[in-house]
Amino acid sequence: MLALVAVVVLAACSTVSMTGRKQLNIVSESEILSASLTEYQSYMKTAKVSSDKNATAVVKNVAQRIAQAAESYLRTSGQTADLQNYSWEFNLVDDKQLNAFCMPGGKIVVYTGMLNLIGNGKDRDDMLAAVIGHEVGHAIAKHGNERASQQLLAQLGSSVLGAAVANKSEKTQQAVAVAYGLGAQYGALLPFSRKQELEADYIGIVLATLAGYEANAAITLWEKMSAVSQSTTAEFMSTHPSSTTRIAQLKKDIPEVKKQLGVK
Ligand SMILES: [Zn+2]
Repeated sequence: MLALVAVVVLAACSTVSMTGRKQLNIVSESEILSASLTEYQSYMKTAKVSSDKNATAVVKNVAQRIAQAAESYLRTSGQTADLQNYSWEFNLVDDKQLNAFCMPGGKIVVYTGMLNLIGNGKDRDDMLAAVIGHEVGHAIAKHGNERASQQLLAQLGSSVLGAAVANKSEKTQQAVAVAYGLGAQYGALLPFSRKQELEADYIGIVLATLAGYEANAAITLWEKMSAVSQSTTAEFMSTHPSSTTRIAQLKKDIPEVKKQLGVK
């Protein structure tokens, strides 16, 4: 019995290609995609889509370029099978929270609160690329599957065999709902782990650079976030834990990524 459990766990372990980190994904990608789509559609039914045409166009343009960069990354890194999982959608939603997300399958939402924080300066698109690149980083590294898998394991009392059996059940939908926390029932996005955050930061730099944006804007963005968080409770901060070490890591990674990609 124990040996069988170990085999299932090993089989469910995959690797994040951009960083080489091992992760536990016990739910099949198709299950995650369909559960995520259901969750996204029910979120969009209640979300207030922004009526500001200019701001929406700004977000869609940057998100489109980041999505293209993500696809070209998947193509050149031999993950062509993953390409079919993406059916991109880009939205600007009226919500004062400082947040944004990208669900499995490429459904991107930026809140107006985040856009307002970024402002209308000349580095606006670069900062937006940092936010969206980071969120798409979570998606292409399959952090949603990882989090839903952890959620399933918790729900099922660590019965990995049970979780494997539960793949086709309502439990996957519940796990995705809890993992994304988009419904009124849950109210707030759950935090990703520190490792997932740093991984998304790294992938975000790569995607922003590939898309032709200035990756250093990520540092400006996090500095802005941390200044705001001193006075208010910034939601993006609570779901995206920040620290000086995170900024330090970006300062280390950005020149290396630029060098690797041949960008000044
Ligand atoms: Zn994040």
